[in-house]
Amino acid sequence: MSCDFSLEHYRELLDAAKAGGYRLSGFDRPPAPGDLILRHDVDLSLDAALKVAEVEADADAWSTWFLMTRSVFYNLDSAEGEDAIARLCELGGRIAHHAVWPQIDLDDRFEPVVAWHNPEPEYMTAPIDGATNVMAAPWFDPEHYRSDSNQHWRHGCPHEQLGRGEPEWLQLLTHPEIWAYPGKTMRESMESFLDADRAARLERLRADSIDLS
Ligand SMILES: [Zn+2]
Ligand SMILES: [Zn+2]
Repeated sequence: MSCDFSLEHYRELLDAAKAGGYRLSGFDRPPAPGDLILRHDVDLSLDAALKVAEVEADADAWSTWFLMTRSVFYNLDSAEGEDAIARLCELGGRIAHHAVWPQIDLDDRFEPVVAWHNPEPEYMTAPIDGATNVMAAPWFDPEHYRSDSNQHWRHGCPHEQLGRGEPEWLQLLTHPEIWAYPGKTMRESMESFLDADRAARLERLRADSIDLS
């Protein structure tokens, strides 16, 4: 098994967690022994989120999707954004807010759960009025947290430990763009994303009655 950042290996990770006996959970109650909290911060692409969500549904898994209202890469208020939320929910996902400090745009699309985008240490773990901060205790604890930031696991890919049921519980943060678009490096994955995005934008131009002849 190669620990690459691909949809295939994401599926293997989910299967490992199942073999390890984990129960999937969210941020609506404090983590308990045996919990695996799957968290996705969607920074760049709703299409990538949907691809990962299909893999999860196929594996009888679900997760919490942290979506941005202030992204420069996608628009949650567009028809595509509304469709993406509907589909993520249909596949069993929960919707939470990936916020750009200091703005919080919690509305009825979101559970009252916030993950800051690229947080600074000063506010990363600070409590948030009326919402759960996923990087505050008890949901966050460095011993019970893994993240795939920039295609780098600080403590190695967690699939083996999950398969052995080692972490008593775990919050696992993954970024769908890293897994949905192929690439051995972050640069390569981003090039794949940009290629797919260009093709998608051409289709949108067509749908917008732009003459591409
Ligand atoms: Zn692995
Ligand atoms: Zn982010």
